[in-house]
Amino acid sequence: MNGEINTPKNFIRQIIDSDLQSGSHSTIHTRFPPEPNGYLHIGHAKSIVLNFGIAQDYPGSCNLRFDDTNPAKEEEEFVEAIKEDVRWLGYEWAELRFASNYFEQLYGFAVELINAGKAFVCDLNPEQVREYRGTLTEPGRESPFRNRTIEENLDLFKRMRAGEFADGSRTLRARIDMASPNINLRDPALYRIRHGLIHHQTGAEWCIYPMYDYTHPISDAIEGITHSLCTLEFEDHRPLYDWVLDNISIDCHPRQIEFSRLNLEYTVMSKRRLTQLVQEKRVSGWSDPRMPTIAGLRRRGYTPESIRHFCEAIGVTKSEGTVEMGVLENSIRGHLDAIAPRRMAVLDPLKVVISNYPADQGEVLQAGNHPKDDTLGTRELVLTREIYIDRADFREEANKKYKRLVLGGEVRLRNAYVVRCDEAVKDASGRIIELRCTYDPDTLGHNPEGRKVRGVIHWVSATQGHKAEVRLYDRLCKSAEPGKGGDFLDDLNPESLQVLRDCIVEPELARAAVGERYQFEREGYFCLDSEDSAPGRLVFNRIVSLRDSWGKGGDE
Ligand code: ATP
Ligand code: MG
Repeated sequence: MNGEINTPKNFIRQIIDSDLQSGSHSTIHTRFPPEPNGYLHIGHAKSIVLNFGIAQDYPGSCNLRFDDTNPAKEEEEFVEAIKEDVRWLGYEWAELRFASNYFEQLYGFAVELINAGKAFVCDLNPEQVREYRGTLTEPGRESPFRNRTIEENLDLFKRMRAGEFADGSRTLRARIDMASPNINLRDPALYRIRHGLIHHQTGAEWCIYPMYDYTHPISDAIEGITHSLCTLEFEDHRPLYDWVLDNISIDCHPRQIEFSRLNLEYTVMSKRRLTQLVQEKRVSGWSDPRMPTIAGLRRRGYTPESIRHFCEAIGVTKSEGTVEMGVLENSIRGHLDAIAPRRMAVLDPLKVVISNYPADQGEVLQAGNHPKDDTLGTRELVLTREIYIDRADFREEANKKYKRLVLGGEVRLRNAYVVRCDEAVKDASGRIIELRCTYDPDTLGHNPEGRKVRGVIHWVSATQGHKAEVRLYDRLCKSAEPGKGGDFLDDLNPESLQVLRDCIVEPELARAAVGERYQFEREGYFCLDSEDSAPGRLVFNRIVSLRDSWGKGGDE
């Protein structure tokens, strides 16, 4: 796999093709419009790959627009993190915009609507507005303030802006149809009053803020967006999107197209829930490697290519569904199998003394970095009399299925010789603390004559290896659909992080750098942790296991 795949054109690209063919557009403009109220997650990646991917493949461009109309929840930190994540995924925006750039224009268009008798200032409080709205089966009732004169509305709206009225005391509402079967068209709010907030872009300049459903179509139109792609929950809002643009003096009328959200098994995706995990310190932060955030996946060791590949593979449709975690894991596995250099690391060390190996000898062995790609070259390993193997690779006795080391049996040390185990030394409690082995000097690079060696195990020199901490991650949640039957916090997996503090890694790994990824042979794919590693302190994250053994009771 080289990171990208050819998938048939999704339905949105088919619509764009026909719009280009019919001549209604000659270039395509899309946008990715996050609200800066949290970090981006893998669901956002689906939207990013869709919007930026279209801009790359067609003559066109894609803007990054922050949908920043709710300063109570938005922060500059999130703005910066989102920019970093989009770039890391491999995309560059044509223009960086903020919906707040348009506050003055949005205000102007609201005045236009008032002048046309299509918006009014309403004094109902939020509870009354709800009461008047009606239900899916019952029409709403008209606000008693609906028939104010244009002059009165203009005056009140101006005074709303000037800060004369308290939060919640008035709203500006569209004047559409309280009997509409679509509740979104029952005189929806366009502006609300919010005092005392400092907006990350506009500071204290405004005390009225435009609603999302009003801001979004106008922002799209100002930017000349041709296709406004959003998730299915906005399908019922499309008539309002169109109503806004049909009733103001703007030429551009983008076409809104909805697609289904990405849901992933065994994790949560909404920013509300992710924020809760961070605030309640259930995870170490937004970049905790167990989080489905882009920052978490990056720190975990995912490549941008693998995430793009995943987003292409799941496709874009209108049908709701939940994607298996294995699909995401296979994307990174496939990519890393191709590119990750191989290394040896012993996660649960058991000392082995090779009795017939000279104590002062250190033999330099060449080891290939990749079994299928010679261009990745070789590295040096040093074999010494004392080495470590993994405790799980030895049993005093075992049946033939166990292809590792047993007492009296032989096994090959990866990239080195065949050794035989002569003795297992135990402490007073009966725990094995050391193995005594002998090696066969005739077995470097070829098998011994007349004997069958059962398996190959990895090892690290006791004197040349380096200590390291290794973090093994499991799924964030223990239920495929967290929160289905109650509080999602009850579904968090208490074993999602396992920290191994006494691992020994081969000397080459002391030079590991953030951003490099390795296969630890027989263990999985790993990378240096970008936040907790330091000179002299190696901390590795397991990106993904070698096989999809989750829930199947382990390997081999
Ligand atoms: P959340 O519910 O996680 O807070 P959101 O939709 O409120 O998500 P926004 O910042 O408004 O988050 O999203 C920016 C863009 O990303 C929107 O166009 C939205 O439709 C899209 N998006 C968000 N979540 C997903 C998802 N799970 N799958 C696909 N697209 C998504
Ligand atoms: Mg949102």
